[in-house]
Amino acid sequence: MSTPSITRLADYRAPEFLIEKTYLSFDLNEAYTDVSSKLSIVSNPQSGKTSDLFLHGEQLELLSLAINDQPLSSADYQISREGLTIYNVPEQFVLHCKTRIYPDKNTALEGLYRSSGMYCTQCEAEGFRKITYYLDRPDVMSEFETVIIADDNAFSVMLSNGNCLSDSVVDGKRIVHWHDPFKKPSYLFALVAGNLDCLEDSFITQSGRNVLLQIYTEAKDSDKCDFAMQSLKKAMRWDEEVYGREYDLDRFMIVAVDDFNMGAMENKGLNIFNTSCVLAHPKSTTDAAFQRVESVVAHEYFHNWSGNRVTCRDWFQLSLKEGLTVYRDEEFSADMNSRAVKRIEGASFMRNVQFVEDAGPMAHPVRPDSYLEISNFYTMTIYEKGAEVVRMLANILGPENYHKGTDLYFERFDGQAVTCDDFVACMEETSGKDLHQFRLWYSQAGTPQLHISDSYDAERQQYHLHVRQHTPETPGQPLKQALHIPLKITLYGEQGAQDLIIEGKNYGEETVLDICREQQTIVFDNITEKPSPSLLREFSAPVKVDYDYQLQQLQQLVLLDSDGFCRWDAVQNLMGRVLHEAIEGDSKEPTQDALIQSLKRLLQNFSAMDMGLLACLLDLPSEHYVASRYEKADPAAISQARTHLQHQLALALEPELLACYQALAGEVAGLSAEAMAARSLRNRALGYLMCIDKAIYRGLAEQQFLHAENMTDQFAALKAMVHAEHAHIEAQHALQAFYQQWQNDALVVNMWLQVQATKPWGDVLRDVRALLEHPAFDKRNPNKLRAVIAAFANQNFSQFHQLSGEAYQFLAEQIADIDQRNPQIAARLLTPLTHWHQFIAPYGQLMKAALDSLSQHELSKDVYEVLSKSLVEN
Ligand SMILES: [Zn+2]
Repeated sequence: MSTPSITRLADYRAPEFLIEKTYLSFDLNEAYTDVSSKLSIVSNPQSGKTSDLFLHGEQLELLSLAINDQPLSSADYQISREGLTIYNVPEQFVLHCKTRIYPDKNTALEGLYRSSGMYCTQCEAEGFRKITYYLDRPDVMSEFETVIIADDNAFSVMLSNGNCLSDSVVDGKRIVHWHDPFKKPSYLFALVAGNLDCLEDSFITQSGRNVLLQIYTEAKDSDKCDFAMQSLKKAMRWDEEVYGREYDLDRFMIVAVDDFNMGAMENKGLNIFNTSCVLAHPKSTTDAAFQRVESVVAHEYFHNWSGNRVTCRDWFQLSLKEGLTVYRDEEFSADMNSRAVKRIEGASFMRNVQFVEDAGPMAHPVRPDSYLEISNFYTMTIYEKGAEVVRMLANILGPENYHKGTDLYFERFDGQAVTCDDFVACMEETSGKDLHQFRLWYSQAGTPQLHISDSYDAERQQYHLHVRQHTPETPGQPLKQALHIPLKITLYGEQGAQDLIIEGKNYGEETVLDICREQQTIVFDNITEKPSPSLLREFSAPVKVDYDYQLQQLQQLVLLDSDGFCRWDAVQNLMGRVLHEAIEGDSKEPTQDALIQSLKRLLQNFSAMDMGLLACLLDLPSEHYVASRYEKADPAAISQARTHLQHQLALALEPELLACYQALAGEVAGLSAEAMAARSLRNRALGYLMCIDKAIYRGLAEQQFLHAENMTDQFAALKAMVHAEHAHIEAQHALQAFYQQWQNDALVVNMWLQVQATKPWGDVLRDVRALLEHPAFDKRNPNKLRAVIAAFANQNFSQFHQLSGEAYQFLAEQIADIDQRNPQIAARLLTPLTHWHQFIAPYGQLMKAALDSLSQHELSKDVYEVLSKSLVEN
């Protein structure tokens, strides 16, 4: 293929034209859709004069074009693959344009497409240009009116953004007219037409306005919307109370769609959701999925302010809306659930996924400098690390100044398209803090490492903490500067937390240190004994910390630290050491003993603990995380060491695990935080017990599978049985029974596919190939691709990394095939192979060979970008 062109932040120019009003009419026919647009265009006074207008447009059939009602001749314009150039346009005019598109043939799921007979749209980032010719860039904000026309009775609902002005039938055609009074960029446009059921509710805003709330689904799913509705109302209230943000339209709509590339989309007033992020029912939905629905519903709702009212100037600023909104939804979830557990989940996700991204060929800053295909930048770095950057700002400023900063941001930039710098400037202005150095977090890629050592001066009663920071090089950024890193800390002595006195000022038991230099030493006074430092409390910055703890210090932190993240981190540290020793062939008894003794004491007191937290403490570090700690990782050694440790822990903690499992039986119904926490602990215990090949535990799992009252327990039992090393016939029976029971529920069938694709034993690649032929599989549906292919490649470390390299080739073949239909999803599936350089021979070479074979195919821009960056030797 020809090399696609690079878009660079440095080349940003204000738009030469603006679109003040956008009038769209969609005529939905069975075989095609005709889109008529009437755009009121003016030249932008902020920009240099030009008389040629370029409009984005791809894969469109142009039917007619007119300026101020004068039809244009073919000499007046030119069409290219990227769009339409009209020559010599006036300074102000009305453009009429008619295009034809084919939603039925749209398998990329960008623009207007059909999913199970329903029309829907996905326009972020650049899907609108597949609907009609337009200035499809976020800094062009326009007022939209939309008319949808279809045969009367063809669809029960025909929706677009904003408020419904009229709904009438003329000559057998139904015509529905929508108007969105708020200016918005084209990426927030949405249209839905289908035969859908609707759950309705209402919400009174803090100023007393009544908002109609609607969730639309296919009729078969209409009993699965209550939880999303409750979540929406909680989110609306929370945003009023915490951020002072009120909803602005008369109506807020959510539509659930089966075929969707992403999780959900915040189109103004008309959010479109992947069914997996909105449908929930106690019988068929796990606790984890309930929490996901709660957080995604909140996330998309919060975008109404952080994204829609104030939007991004260009796509390099994507984290402006995503980082801020993820931070907002994380804090909402922390307020609704266990704050400690939510923080551990966030930290764990950063370590297991974002840090790995940072160490790979696609590493990029929170505000990237360039891209070939913007769809490839909907990444962990933009979303999760972006949220950590906002969290650090909140940590550095304190809650009061942080909220003054967001108030100013929303007020000053309402109705505008702005930059990450504009956001930081508001924080700087309201707090008076110098955030000059902090801004580097937006432009510098990579995961910083803090190397921390200490010394204690008993005579002077002084404790010295030496901090050195270093960020490894990333593609295109060989040299890194020192960052401003907030390091939250407590010092523990025999008697508990010590007062932190620095340069004569007492900061109490916990403080945030501003680490700004490459090396710095902090001196604490009046410290009466050598303390154990509790570092990076609440994961106060997205960094790796390296401090040489003694085993006894780690045990103390596991048992006594008041910060949940630090307790988890101490266990992870102990587990990491045991794994490292095993991988190096140098297992040491004291390390494993320290780990086992700590976990034993926790389990013996489980009823007095936050059980959700305890469940997290029992989690082993992922293989990906372990691998990321080596220059060149040996996947077989890592999987083996991890499996061995799991087995050892199960044997050593067997009585405690069993006691815990039995004590929690039967008293964990409902969806309260406590019930969910108890279930997560009980099922973690079951997972461990099933590592021991005893009939009694298989019996427990089978009984739980057969008699479970909810999906969390049923699925946990199924997974424990299917994933057990010594798989018995009852596991096969359970799989069959599960499918029989749930074959008509697509989301549950996805879990059934996934549990098989992630099985750590046996010839799983053969099973995965068979699943692709199963009637429940549909290669056009992104959720199914994620449930089988992505789950296998991302979550089945031991089976994906096989010496034959067959799994790597399999993935490459699948990507080549999927790329022809859905480039976004294909590019995303490529991630596991891009890390080839992190693995020893022959794994690394075999992964690269798979990439090489993929490069022989005709590829989309999406896949081409990831592939070409991955093939660079370093
Ligand atoms: Zn978002």
